[in-house]
Amino acid sequence: MPETKETISINPATGETIGSVKENTIEELSAAVLKAKLVQKEWAEISIADRAKHLILIRNYIAVNAGRIAEVISRDNGKTRIDALSAEVIPAAMAADYYAKKGIKILARKHLRPGNLAFANKKSYVDRVPFGVVGIISPWNYPFAIPINEVLMALISGNAVVLKVATQTQQVAKILEEVVNAGKLPEGLFSILNIPGPIAGDAFIESGISKLFFTGSVPVGKKLMAKASEKLIPVSLELGGNDAMIVCSDADIYRAATGAVWGGFSNCGQSCGGVERIYVEAKIYDDYMKVLREKTEKLRIGFDKNFNVDVGSLTTELQLNTVKRHVQDALSKGAIITAKADPQPGNEKGLFLPAVVLENVADDMITMREETFGPVLAVQKVEDINEAIAKTNDSNLGLTASVWTRDRKKAHLIASKIEAGAVSINDHLMSHGLAETPWGGFKQSGIGRTHSYIGLEEMTQPRVVVDDIMLGVRKDIWWHPHSKEIYDGLIGVINFLYLQNMSKRVDGAIAAAKLFMRSFKAD
Ligand code: NAD
Repeated sequence: MPETKETISINPATGETIGSVKENTIEELSAAVLKAKLVQKEWAEISIADRAKHLILIRNYIAVNAGRIAEVISRDNGKTRIDALSAEVIPAAMAADYYAKKGIKILARKHLRPGNLAFANKKSYVDRVPFGVVGIISPWNYPFAIPINEVLMALISGNAVVLKVATQTQQVAKILEEVVNAGKLPEGLFSILNIPGPIAGDAFIESGISKLFFTGSVPVGKKLMAKASEKLIPVSLELGGNDAMIVCSDADIYRAATGAVWGGFSNCGQSCGGVERIYVEAKIYDDYMKVLREKTEKLRIGFDKNFNVDVGSLTTELQLNTVKRHVQDALSKGAIITAKADPQPGNEKGLFLPAVVLENVADDMITMREETFGPVLAVQKVEDINEAIAKTNDSNLGLTASVWTRDRKKAHLIASKIEAGAVSINDHLMSHGLAETPWGGFKQSGIGRTHSYIGLEEMTQPRVVVDDIMLGVRKDIWWHPHSKEIYDGLIGVINFLYLQNMSKRVDGAIAAAKLFMRSFKAD
């Protein structure tokens, strides 16, 4: 008997062991995919309205157990319970509700009108067909909200799911399994496995899944896509960000500073769409920085014992070291920490770092070029909005961004110039919590979209069915046997449709009509 491996879960905010979860084998993954394939066929036959009933059961279970789920997320990932509740649990319930209610219409058959007079006899419709078994690999930073959204989208679309949650958040994986099982799904339609990342990549692709939804880092996304290309398995990749916020001179300074503190430091800065870089117009720089520094220094950082903390711990030591390295690089090249909130005393055993505001930052510092993914806000003064837009777009990543101004028209104009998958006006990051808005990035921030009607489209493939409107047509005009008459008739069709000269168009119509009459005769 091979030895059973266990993943030990540690609360990163206290260093305490909080449980263990059995590691799954590749054989178990293959068996889960095989079973899922069989069950999926029946699931896809069920009406979307009936599938939606299972999602409503999941929604209800989340609502009843919201506090307990938030507690598990907080203890496993290090974030505060309010972070967990507001950015993971409530959005998950709203997503279940949204996909259950809107999925029916979004996934319904779409009828197409003939696009051209020459094909007026053809009518078509598009059905959204599930892929089969969707493999989902998710990260530790939103260990509940990210995978459950994708599980819900996959299920309502008629797919089976095999899910792998990050090794670091296996306690969340356990409660996620409990939540999905509350949906009383057919046995084997949904499986959750604990497989270490480096093994999971090849194993998932080889396991027989029909589509991969991956959320995580850019390098792992690239590796998975390369592997998936061997079997041409379609992939949706939700990868990293290095998000900018643009603060215009007419911004509400209080809102823009308070929003930056939430967008940059909630989840301890470990948000793919969190604020990383801030570009502030010179005219208000000093006033803005005064509020930003004050707000940052007031943050209470520590283990969430009694809800009275604002920022929790980082989740992994690796991440903590990355953040330290980015800050060190910036300081060594001339950046200055102008505001800092230290972890409260008594938190020495947790993975805590101070929340910092960096000023005097230059474009070539690592923190400006790469995703820091920690409690760091790097701020630069810019002369005007054009400079801010250029700097925002000067990145190989393009997940989200935000514009802060009281002038709505200007805000939308700036938004139209930003190379990112989601732009918020006078807000940041929160659209991840909206099931109705697509989520995903430009450039190396990913491929494809999750959430919303586009997310449901990504969980399915379109199948078009084309039919004749008029019965009795024996053959299409271009079918065999070919002849000069057919050639002239086809020239007639294009002349009739597109020539500018009226008499040539009439000649064309006559030639086309003659050809059309042939359609009703057998040779
Ligand atoms: P990661 O890429 O290391 O891991 C993500 C998941 O992939 C985990 O489940 C991990 O176990 C697994 N994994 C790791 N190596 C693998 C491999 N070789 N093959 C298959 N699976 C593998 O990322 P992370 O550190 O867990 O998450 C942080 C990153 O995720 C950040 O870059 C962040 O921006 C990004 N992220 C993006 C989004 C988004 O929506 N765009 C959301 C959250 C996080």
